[in-house]
Amino acid sequence: MRTDFDAELEERLLRYTAIDTQSDEASDSQPSTAIQLNLSRLLEQELTAIGAKDVRLTDYGAVLATIPATAPDAPTIGFLAHVDTAPQFNATGVKPRVHRAWDGSAITYPDAPDLVLSPETSAYLGTKTGDDIVTASGATLLGADDKAGVAIVMTAARHLLANPAIPHGKIRIAFTPDEEVGRGVDPRLPKDLDADFAYTLDGGKLGEIEYESFSADGATVTIKGVSIHPGWAKGKLVNALHLAAKIVQTLPQATMTPETTEGREGFLHVYEMSGGAAEARIKLILRDFELDSLAAKGALLQQVCAAVQAGEPRAQIACEIRPQYRNMRYWLEKDMTPVDLARAACREIGVDPVSVPIRGGTDGSRLTEMGVPCPNVFTGMQEIHGPLEWISVQDMAAATKVCLRLMELAAP
Ligand SMILES: [Zn+2]
Repeated sequence: MRTDFDAELEERLLRYTAIDTQSDEASDSQPSTAIQLNLSRLLEQELTAIGAKDVRLTDYGAVLATIPATAPDAPTIGFLAHVDTAPQFNATGVKPRVHRAWDGSAITYPDAPDLVLSPETSAYLGTKTGDDIVTASGATLLGADDKAGVAIVMTAARHLLANPAIPHGKIRIAFTPDEEVGRGVDPRLPKDLDADFAYTLDGGKLGEIEYESFSADGATVTIKGVSIHPGWAKGKLVNALHLAAKIVQTLPQATMTPETTEGREGFLHVYEMSGGAAEARIKLILRDFELDSLAAKGALLQQVCAAVQAGEPRAQIACEIRPQYRNMRYWLEKDMTPVDLARAACREIGVDPVSVPIRGGTDGSRLTEMGVPCPNVFTGMQEIHGPLEWISVQDMAAATKVCLRLMELAAP
Protein backbone atom coordinates (compact mmCIF):
# COMPACT_ATOMS: atom_id res chain seq x y z
CA MET A 1 0.00 0.00 0.00
CA ARG A 2 1.33 3.42 -0.97
CA THR A 3 1.49 5.76 2.01
CA ASP A 4 2.37 9.43 2.56
CA PHE A 5 5.85 10.34 1.34
CA ASP A 6 6.33 7.13 -0.68
CA ALA A 7 6.38 8.77 -4.11
CA GLU A 8 8.76 11.53 -3.05
CA LEU A 9 11.12 9.18 -1.21
CA GLU A 10 11.25 6.78 -4.14
CA GLU A 11 11.83 9.56 -6.65
CA ARG A 12 14.65 11.03 -4.56
CA LEU A 13 16.24 7.62 -3.91
CA LEU A 14 16.28 6.75 -7.62
CA ARG A 15 17.80 10.10 -8.56
CA TYR A 16 20.44 10.13 -5.81
CA THR A 17 21.53 6.50 -6.24
CA ALA A 18 22.10 7.02 -9.98
CA ILE A 19 24.85 9.55 -9.12
CA ASP A 20 28.21 7.84 -8.47
CA THR A 21 29.60 9.09 -5.15
CA GLN A 22 31.99 6.31 -4.18
CA SER A 23 34.64 7.33 -1.64
CA ASP A 24 38.27 6.15 -1.74
CA GLU A 25 40.28 5.13 1.31
CA ALA A 26 43.59 5.54 -0.54
CA SER A 27 42.97 9.19 -1.40
CA ASP A 28 44.34 11.98 0.78
CA SER A 29 42.08 14.69 -0.61
CA GLN A 30 39.02 16.04 1.17
CA PRO A 31 36.51 14.83 0.22
CA SER A 32 38.35 11.67 -0.81
CA THR A 33 36.74 11.76 -4.28
CA ALA A 34 35.57 14.86 -6.15
CA ILE A 35 32.58 12.97 -7.60
CA GLN A 36 30.90 13.09 -4.19
CA LEU A 37 30.51 16.83 -4.74
CA ASN A 38 28.19 16.14 -7.70
CA LEU A 39 25.55 15.03 -5.23
CA SER A 40 26.56 17.55 -2.55
CA ARG A 41 26.10 20.45 -4.99
CA LEU A 42 22.75 19.08 -6.12
CA LEU A 43 21.59 18.85 -2.50
CA GLU A 44 22.80 22.39 -1.89
CA GLN A 45 20.58 23.57 -4.79
CA GLU A 46 17.61 21.47 -3.71
CA LEU A 47 17.80 22.69 -0.10
CA THR A 48 17.84 26.28 -1.34
CA ALA A 49 14.91 25.57 -3.67
CA ILE A 50 12.71 24.16 -0.88
CA GLY A 51 13.39 27.24 1.25
CA ALA A 52 16.02 26.03 3.74
CA LYS A 53 18.21 28.75 5.29
CA ASP A 54 22.00 29.10 5.78
CA VAL A 55 22.60 26.59 2.99
CA ARG A 56 26.30 26.10 2.35
CA LEU A 57 28.79 23.58 1.09
CA THR A 58 31.78 23.68 3.46
CA ASP A 59 35.34 23.42 2.24
CA TYR A 60 35.49 19.97 3.89
CA GLY A 61 32.65 18.84 1.64
CA ALA A 62 29.63 18.82 3.99
CA VAL A 63 26.34 20.43 2.96
CA LEU A 64 24.80 22.29 5.89
CA ALA A 65 21.37 23.91 6.17
CA THR A 66 18.85 25.21 8.69
CA ILE A 67 15.11 24.85 9.00
CA PRO A 68 14.14 27.76 11.25
CA ALA A 69 12.23 26.98 14.46
CA THR A 70 8.45 27.32 14.54
CA ALA A 71 8.32 26.65 18.30
CA PRO A 72 10.47 28.66 20.69
CA ASP A 73 12.39 26.95 23.51
CA ALA A 74 12.67 23.64 21.67
CA PRO A 75 16.14 22.12 21.37
CA THR A 76 18.11 22.38 18.13
CA ILE A 77 18.17 18.94 16.51
CA GLY A 78 20.58 17.85 13.81
CA PHE A 79 19.89 15.27 11.08
CA LEU A 80 22.78 13.70 9.22
CA ALA A 81 23.20 11.37 6.29
CA HIS A 82 26.29 10.58 4.21
CA VAL A 83 26.50 11.12 0.46
CA ASP A 84 29.30 8.63 -0.27
CA THR A 85 28.91 4.96 -1.12
CA ALA A 86 31.16 2.09 -0.06
CA PRO A 87 34.45 1.45 -1.91
CA GLN A 88 34.07 -2.35 -1.51
CA PHE A 89 31.94 -2.92 -4.62
CA ASN A 90 31.36 -1.36 -8.03
CA ALA A 91 29.30 1.81 -7.61
CA THR A 92 29.61 3.22 -11.13
CA GLY A 93 26.53 3.14 -13.34
CA VAL A 94 23.93 2.29 -10.70
CA LYS A 95 20.62 1.44 -12.39
CA PRO A 96 18.02 1.34 -9.63
CA ARG A 97 14.96 -0.85 -10.21
CA VAL A 98 11.62 -0.66 -8.43
CA HIS A 99 9.77 -3.90 -7.72
CA ARG A 100 6.38 -2.25 -7.25
CA ALA A 101 4.10 -3.94 -4.70
CA TRP A 102 6.59 -6.81 -4.60
CA ASP A 103 4.77 -10.17 -4.76
CA GLY A 104 7.16 -12.20 -2.60
CA SER A 105 8.83 -14.09 -5.44
CA ALA A 106 12.61 -14.29 -5.96
CA ILE A 107 14.18 -11.13 -7.40
CA THR A 108 16.62 -11.62 -10.29
CA TYR A 109 19.02 -9.18 -11.93
CA PRO A 110 19.42 -8.24 -15.61
CA ASP A 111 23.17 -7.59 -15.24
CA ALA A 112 23.99 -10.70 -13.16
CA PRO A 113 21.97 -13.75 -14.26
CA ASP A 114 23.21 -15.91 -11.36
CA LEU A 115 22.29 -13.46 -8.65
CA VAL A 116 19.07 -14.04 -6.68
CA LEU A 117 17.52 -12.15 -3.79
CA SER A 118 14.78 -14.08 -2.04
CA PRO A 119 13.10 -14.55 1.33
CA GLU A 120 15.05 -17.83 1.67
CA THR A 121 18.34 -15.98 1.93
CA SER A 122 16.97 -12.75 3.40
CA ALA A 123 14.37 -13.39 6.09
CA TYR A 124 13.68 -9.68 6.52
CA LEU A 125 12.75 -9.39 2.84
CA GLY A 126 10.15 -12.08 3.51
CA THR A 127 8.33 -9.63 5.80
CA LYS A 128 8.02 -7.01 3.02
CA THR A 129 5.50 -8.55 0.62
CA GLY A 130 3.42 -5.78 -0.91
CA ASP A 131 6.10 -3.12 -0.36
CA ASP A 132 7.87 -1.27 -3.13
CA ILE A 133 11.35 -2.83 -3.11
CA VAL A 134 14.27 -1.02 -4.74
CA THR A 135 17.35 -2.95 -5.90
CA ALA A 136 20.24 -2.30 -8.26
CA SER A 137 20.69 -4.19 -11.55
CA GLY A 138 23.29 -6.75 -10.44
CA ALA A 139 26.42 -4.96 -11.66
CA THR A 140 26.67 -2.47 -8.80
CA LEU A 141 25.69 -1.85 -5.23
CA LEU A 142 22.52 0.23 -4.84
CA GLY A 143 23.81 2.94 -2.52
CA ALA A 144 20.69 3.08 -0.34
CA ASP A 145 23.53 3.30 2.20
CA ASP A 146 23.17 6.15 2.66
CA LYS A 147 21.13 7.84 -0.06
CA ALA A 148 18.04 6.47 1.68
CA GLY A 149 19.12 8.62 4.63
CA VAL A 150 19.63 11.61 2.34
CA ALA A 151 16.19 11.09 0.76
CA ILE A 152 14.53 10.76 4.19
CA VAL A 153 16.12 13.97 5.54
CA MET A 154 15.31 15.89 2.32
CA THR A 155 11.70 14.69 2.34
CA ALA A 156 11.21 15.56 6.02
CA ALA A 157 12.81 18.98 5.42
CA ARG A 158 10.60 19.71 2.40
CA HIS A 159 7.52 18.69 4.40
CA LEU A 160 8.40 20.92 7.39
CA LEU A 161 9.17 23.93 5.21
CA ALA A 162 5.87 23.49 3.36
CA ASN A 163 3.92 23.15 6.62
CA PRO A 164 5.08 25.89 9.01
CA ALA A 165 2.18 25.16 11.38
CA ILE A 166 4.01 22.04 12.57
CA PRO A 167 5.73 22.99 15.85
CA HIS A 168 9.45 22.17 16.01
CA GLY A 169 12.70 23.69 17.17
CA LYS A 170 15.55 24.74 14.92
CA ILE A 171 16.61 21.88 12.66
CA ARG A 172 20.16 21.57 11.37
CA ILE A 173 20.91 19.35 8.40
CA ALA A 174 24.30 17.92 7.42
CA PHE A 175 25.07 15.76 4.40
CA THR A 176 28.62 14.54 4.92
CA PRO A 177 31.18 12.90 2.61
CA ASP A 178 33.51 9.96 3.31
CA GLU A 179 31.62 8.12 6.03
CA GLU A 180 32.51 4.80 4.41
CA VAL A 181 36.24 5.52 4.70
CA GLY A 182 35.93 6.65 8.32
CA ARG A 183 36.45 10.33 7.63
CA GLY A 184 32.90 11.64 7.75
CA VAL A 185 33.28 13.87 10.77
CA ASP A 186 35.63 16.76 10.18
CA PRO A 187 36.84 18.39 13.42
CA ARG A 188 34.91 21.54 12.40
CA LEU A 189 31.58 19.72 11.97
CA PRO A 190 30.34 19.68 15.62
CA LYS A 191 30.68 23.47 15.91
CA ASP A 192 29.30 24.11 12.42
CA LEU A 193 26.35 21.81 13.07
CA ASP A 194 25.64 23.63 16.35
CA ALA A 195 22.89 21.24 17.50
CA ASP A 196 21.94 20.16 21.02
CA PHE A 197 21.79 16.61 19.77
CA ALA A 198 21.50 14.89 16.40
CA TYR A 199 20.63 11.71 14.55
CA THR A 200 22.32 9.87 11.75
CA LEU A 201 19.84 8.31 9.31
CA ASP A 202 22.12 5.39 8.52
CA GLY A 203 20.55 2.34 10.15
CA GLY A 204 18.94 -0.86 8.88
CA LYS A 205 15.73 -2.59 9.84
CA LEU A 206 12.44 -0.87 10.63
CA GLY A 207 12.39 0.33 14.24
CA GLU A 208 16.13 0.19 14.92
CA ILE A 209 17.26 3.05 17.15
CA GLU A 210 20.93 2.47 17.90
CA TYR A 211 22.97 4.14 20.60
CA GLU A 212 25.78 1.64 21.09
CA SER A 213 28.65 1.22 18.67
CA PHE A 214 31.96 -0.57 18.95
CA SER A 215 34.91 1.14 20.54
CA ALA A 216 37.60 0.87 17.91
CA ASP A 217 41.38 0.97 17.67
CA GLY A 218 43.59 0.49 14.64
CA ALA A 219 47.01 -1.20 14.83
CA THR A 220 50.03 -1.38 12.56
CA VAL A 221 52.82 -3.86 13.23
CA THR A 222 56.06 -3.10 11.41
CA ILE A 223 58.70 -5.82 11.17
CA LYS A 224 62.21 -4.95 10.03
CA GLY A 225 64.31 -7.97 9.21
CA VAL A 226 67.96 -8.17 8.11
CA SER A 227 68.35 -8.13 4.35
CA ILE A 228 71.27 -10.03 2.78
CA HIS A 229 71.86 -11.56 -0.67
CA PRO A 230 70.20 -14.99 -0.30
CA GLY A 231 73.25 -16.73 -1.70
CA TRP A 232 75.40 -15.57 1.22
CA ALA A 233 72.69 -15.35 3.83
CA LYS A 234 73.45 -18.29 6.10
CA GLY A 235 73.21 -17.24 9.73
CA LYS A 236 72.65 -13.61 8.74
CA LEU A 237 69.37 -13.06 6.91
CA VAL A 238 66.34 -12.36 9.10
CA ASN A 239 63.21 -12.69 6.97
CA ALA A 240 60.53 -10.18 7.96
CA LEU A 241 57.86 -12.20 6.13
CA HIS A 242 58.47 -15.28 8.29
CA LEU A 243 58.19 -13.15 11.42
CA ALA A 244 55.00 -11.48 10.14
CA ALA A 245 53.53 -14.91 9.43
CA LYS A 246 54.51 -16.05 12.92
CA ILE A 247 52.74 -13.09 14.51
CA VAL A 248 49.56 -13.73 12.53
CA GLN A 249 49.78 -17.46 13.29
CA THR A 250 50.18 -16.78 17.02
CA LEU A 251 47.14 -14.50 17.24
CA PRO A 252 43.82 -16.14 18.19
CA GLN A 253 42.07 -17.73 15.20
CA ALA A 254 39.42 -20.05 16.62
CA THR A 255 38.12 -17.19 18.75
CA MET A 256 38.26 -13.37 18.87
CA THR A 257 38.08 -12.96 15.07
CA PRO A 258 35.19 -11.35 13.14
CA GLU A 259 34.22 -14.75 11.72
CA THR A 260 33.97 -16.39 15.17
CA THR A 261 32.21 -13.62 17.12
CA GLU A 262 28.78 -11.99 17.27
CA GLY A 263 26.52 -9.96 19.54
CA ARG A 264 28.55 -8.21 22.22
CA GLU A 265 31.83 -10.05 21.55
CA GLY A 266 34.80 -8.06 20.32
CA PHE A 267 37.58 -9.13 17.97
CA LEU A 268 41.06 -8.65 16.57
CA HIS A 269 41.03 -8.61 12.77
CA VAL A 270 44.12 -8.88 10.55
CA TYR A 271 43.01 -7.16 7.35
CA GLU A 272 46.22 -6.50 5.46
CA MET A 273 49.76 -7.88 5.17
CA SER A 274 52.31 -6.34 2.90
CA GLY A 275 56.03 -6.05 2.38
CA GLY A 276 59.02 -8.22 1.58
CA ALA A 277 61.82 -10.14 3.27
CA ALA A 278 63.49 -6.92 4.45
CA GLU A 279 60.43 -5.24 5.90
CA ALA A 280 56.83 -6.27 6.36
CA ARG A 281 53.71 -4.67 7.74
CA ILE A 282 50.55 -6.09 9.28
CA LYS A 283 47.43 -3.98 9.68
CA LEU A 284 44.72 -4.86 12.17
CA ILE A 285 41.56 -3.48 13.65
CA LEU A 286 40.60 -4.06 17.28
CA ARG A 287 36.94 -3.88 18.29
CA ASP A 288 35.01 -4.23 21.52
CA PHE A 289 31.99 -2.68 23.21
CA GLU A 290 33.91 -2.15 26.45
CA LEU A 291 37.10 -0.12 26.78
CA ASP A 292 38.82 -2.51 29.22
CA SER A 293 38.27 -5.48 26.89
CA LEU A 294 39.47 -3.35 23.97
CA ALA A 295 42.63 -2.52 25.92
CA ALA A 296 43.08 -6.25 26.69
CA LYS A 297 43.03 -7.01 22.96
CA GLY A 298 45.69 -4.37 22.41
CA ALA A 299 47.77 -5.88 25.21
CA LEU A 300 47.42 -9.34 23.68
CA LEU A 301 48.68 -8.05 20.33
CA GLN A 302 51.62 -6.34 22.07
CA GLN A 303 52.44 -9.59 23.91
CA VAL A 304 52.44 -11.62 20.71
CA CYS A 305 54.75 -9.08 19.06
CA ALA A 306 57.03 -9.10 22.11
CA ALA A 307 57.19 -12.89 22.12
CA VAL A 308 58.15 -13.06 18.43
CA GLN A 309 60.67 -10.26 19.00
CA ALA A 310 62.19 -12.19 21.91
CA GLY A 311 62.69 -15.18 19.62
CA GLU A 312 64.58 -13.07 17.05
CA PRO A 313 66.45 -10.18 18.70
CA ARG A 314 68.06 -9.14 15.39
CA ALA A 315 64.66 -8.06 14.01
CA GLN A 316 62.91 -4.85 14.97
CA ILE A 317 59.23 -5.27 15.65
CA ALA A 318 57.13 -2.21 16.43
CA CYS A 319 53.43 -2.29 17.28
CA GLU A 320 51.54 0.97 17.10
CA ILE A 321 47.93 1.13 18.34
CA ARG A 322 45.80 4.22 17.78
CA PRO A 323 42.22 5.06 18.80
CA GLN A 324 39.63 5.27 15.99
CA TYR A 325 36.24 5.83 17.63
CA ARG A 326 34.45 5.09 20.88
CA ASN A 327 31.16 3.49 21.91
CA MET A 328 28.63 6.33 21.92
CA ARG A 329 26.83 4.69 24.84
CA TYR A 330 29.44 6.18 27.23
CA TRP A 331 28.01 9.62 26.55
CA LEU A 332 24.39 8.81 25.70
CA GLU A 333 23.73 6.81 28.87
CA LYS A 334 24.33 10.00 30.86
CA ASP A 335 21.37 11.60 29.08
CA MET A 336 19.11 9.30 27.12
CA THR A 337 16.81 12.10 25.91
CA PRO A 338 17.74 11.75 22.20
CA VAL A 339 17.30 7.97 22.34
CA ASP A 340 14.05 8.15 24.31
CA LEU A 341 12.60 10.72 21.88
CA ALA A 342 13.33 8.51 18.88
CA ARG A 343 11.92 5.45 20.61
CA ALA A 344 8.76 7.33 21.63
CA ALA A 345 8.36 8.62 18.05
CA CYS A 346 8.64 5.03 16.79
CA ARG A 347 5.94 3.80 19.13
CA GLU A 348 3.65 6.65 18.13
CA ILE A 349 3.76 5.61 14.49
CA GLY A 350 3.04 2.02 15.49
CA VAL A 351 6.54 0.56 15.22
CA ASP A 352 8.29 -1.26 18.09
CA PRO A 353 11.69 0.35 18.66
CA VAL A 354 14.65 -2.01 18.96
CA SER A 355 18.14 -1.09 20.10
CA VAL A 356 20.86 -3.54 19.15
CA PRO A 357 24.55 -2.74 19.56
CA ILE A 358 26.13 -1.80 16.22
CA ARG A 359 29.09 -4.04 15.34
CA GLY A 360 30.77 -1.08 13.73
CA GLY A 361 30.84 2.68 14.03
CA THR A 362 28.83 5.53 12.58
CA ASP A 363 29.53 9.20 12.06
CA GLY A 364 27.42 9.50 15.22
CA SER A 365 30.06 7.62 17.23
CA ARG A 366 32.60 10.33 16.45
CA LEU A 367 30.11 13.16 16.75
CA THR A 368 28.91 11.93 20.16
CA GLU A 369 32.50 11.72 21.39
CA MET A 370 33.00 15.29 20.15
CA GLY A 371 30.06 16.64 22.15
CA VAL A 372 26.97 16.21 19.97
CA PRO A 373 25.01 13.16 21.21
CA CYS A 374 23.99 11.32 18.05
CA PRO A 375 22.10 8.01 17.96
CA ASN A 376 21.44 6.21 14.68
CA VAL A 377 17.95 5.79 13.19
CA PHE A 378 16.85 3.06 10.76
CA THR A 379 16.31 3.75 7.06
CA GLY A 380 15.42 0.22 5.91
CA MET A 381 18.63 -0.44 3.95
CA GLN A 382 19.66 -4.10 3.75
CA GLU A 383 22.54 -6.27 2.35
CA ILE A 384 24.56 -3.10 1.95
CA HIS A 385 27.95 -2.77 0.21
CA GLY A 386 27.17 -5.42 -2.40
CA PRO A 387 25.02 -6.22 -5.44
CA LEU A 388 22.11 -7.59 -3.36
CA GLU A 389 21.57 -4.28 -1.56
CA TRP A 390 17.86 -3.44 -1.34
CA ILE A 391 15.41 -1.24 0.52
CA SER A 392 11.67 -0.95 1.05
CA VAL A 393 10.23 2.47 0.21
CA GLN A 394 7.68 1.93 2.98
CA ASP A 395 10.48 1.49 5.56
CA MET A 396 11.91 4.81 4.38
CA ALA A 397 8.48 6.39 4.85
CA ALA A 398 8.33 5.07 8.42
CA ALA A 399 11.77 6.58 9.11
CA THR A 400 10.59 9.92 7.72
CA LYS A 401 7.60 9.84 10.06
CA VAL A 402 9.83 9.00 13.03
CA CYS A 403 11.98 12.08 12.27
CA LEU A 404 8.93 14.34 11.99
CA ARG A 405 7.27 12.91 15.07
CA LEU A 406 10.34 13.21 17.28
CA MET A 407 10.78 16.88 16.33
CA GLU A 408 7.24 17.53 17.46
CA LEU A 409 7.75 15.55 20.66
CA ALA A 410 10.86 17.62 21.43
CA ALA A 411 8.92 20.90 21.06
CA PRO A 412 7.35 21.83 24.42
ZN1 LIG B 1 26.12 4.17 5.84
